[in-house]
Amino acid sequence: MQKNNLCKKTQLLIIGAGASGMLAAISARRTARSLGVADERLGIVLLERNLKPGNKIAISGGGHCNLTHDGDVKNLLEKGFLRKNEQRFLRHAIHTFSNADLLALFGRYGLKTEAREDGRVFPVSGRAGEVLDLLRRMVEESGVTLITGARVERLECAAFGFVLQAGERRFEADAVILATGGASWGSAGTTGDGNRLAASMGHAIAPVMSALAPNYFTVPPRAELVGITLRNILLVASAEGASDSRRGDVLISHRGISGPACLSLSRSVAGFHASGKPVAISVDLFPGHEAGTLSAFILDQAARHGTRQVRTFLQRTPLAPERHDAPDASSSTETIPNAFADEILRQAGIDREVTMSGLTKAQRLALVSTLKRLALGTVRKVPLDRAEVSAGGVALGEIDPKTMQSKLHPRLYCCGELLDYAGEVGGFNLQAAFSTGWLAGSHAARTLFDKPQTAHE
Ligand SMILES: Cc1cc2nc3c(=O)[nH]c(=O)nc-3n(C[C@H](O)[C@H](O)[C@H](O)COP(=O)(O)OP(=O)(O)OC[C@H]3O[C@@H](n4cnc5c(N)ncnc54)[C@H](O)[C@@H]3O)c2cc1C
Repeated sequence: MQKNNLCKKTQLLIIGAGASGMLAAISARRTARSLGVADERLGIVLLERNLKPGNKIAISGGGHCNLTHDGDVKNLLEKGFLRKNEQRFLRHAIHTFSNADLLALFGRYGLKTEAREDGRVFPVSGRAGEVLDLLRRMVEESGVTLITGARVERLECAAFGFVLQAGERRFEADAVILATGGASWGSAGTTGDGNRLAASMGHAIAPVMSALAPNYFTVPPRAELVGITLRNILLVASAEGASDSRRGDVLISHRGISGPACLSLSRSVAGFHASGKPVAISVDLFPGHEAGTLSAFILDQAARHGTRQVRTFLQRTPLAPERHDAPDASSSTETIPNAFADEILRQAGIDREVTMSGLTKAQRLALVSTLKRLALGTVRKVPLDRAEVSAGGVALGEIDPKTMQSKLHPRLYCCGELLDYAGEVGGFNLQAAFSTGWLAGSHAARTLFDKPQTAHE
């Protein structure tokens, strides 16, 4: 470690001024004050590699910032984190600093929020900048020293605690919180530094991969399909011996697919792709109906409307009707998009002019099998630089979920997206970053002053 430009030794150094790092700073200061510790006795330094803190908050939710999700914590965990081990790991942090606690904290600073019908919570102003401004104000008011343009490159243990190197500057601290975020959307400052720093301290790092990302295909979708959204279908990813699926909307893009179902499935797709197996993406346009029911439905329609072209039949057929609906008497208002009617015929090998009564048995079966498994493409890439979050990172087994403290090094903490979890779209990732940051900050402050910890602030 270089010895130039030693900055004053401090008690607590937080690396990364994103959602988790800023909340860690705020909660450390509040905890210390609640313990009667004067501000000058707890020096807190927040180091940020960018020139401004909170880049990702500024771009979150398309600039509107979906800051959390409505509902009770149990529901939030189940909806937002599909893997049980991640739910278990996050449970204590999110109970300790819940969505209600977060909104109460922001509310005290005047932020008005609204919960949408689907549970996503946004500022009423619709401006991510408002959330970020409030966070910056809270950090400033808490007397934390924010140093921007300081990229931490090295972290080492020392007899008293830790030594850090950021360019020419060297920092010493009794405790360190790693809050460097994930490894996706690198232009925001998140290029996986935290994983390298944690690995240098002996932590196991789960393979980093995209989550909440679009899928790019080896052969781009046909031009006439681009821009179409297939609503409420079942999106399926299949690789040799493995598959996964999601129900929801899929948008066909110039390079492949995007949209909610694609984003949610992308973590599995990235995992299959990383194993080197070809990953085929298909959609089930009738996820609520078995092949036999569909076949009977087509036969019935052929008996009633024999002279109708199969293409017209498809264009009038509801898309993804619910299980309890007959395919033709659906509560769904969407029908199969015209361009997809042609695509279905193409993949089923049926001529555009064929009428319902002219369908042979083999054609009917081919049509059913295409409706149940319409091929969209083969995955070329699940781009990390376009992923809203990255999965992988610091292994959860080496972090105490009750405190966010490393099990390998006392007084070293990891929080936020740096950890090996990834939430769904809906405000879950910011909530997890806020909650784990809050927990790390409050426990670090208690540890530094050797006071027993209580669960809730
Ligand atoms: C386009 C986009 C939209 C999103 N929308 C939403 C949304 O609406 N709702 C939601 O819940 N989630 C959303 N997310 C995800 C969410 O933003 C992140 O999960 C969350 O910000 C993670 O918080 P964090 O504190 O762990 O990391 P970050 O917020 O990424 O903060 C980490 C900070 O550490 C800094 N840093 C990194 N390395 C170093 C270093 N070596 N030295 C010093 N500083 C360093 C980074 O510059 C960064 O400022 C979105 C993400 C993206 C990319």
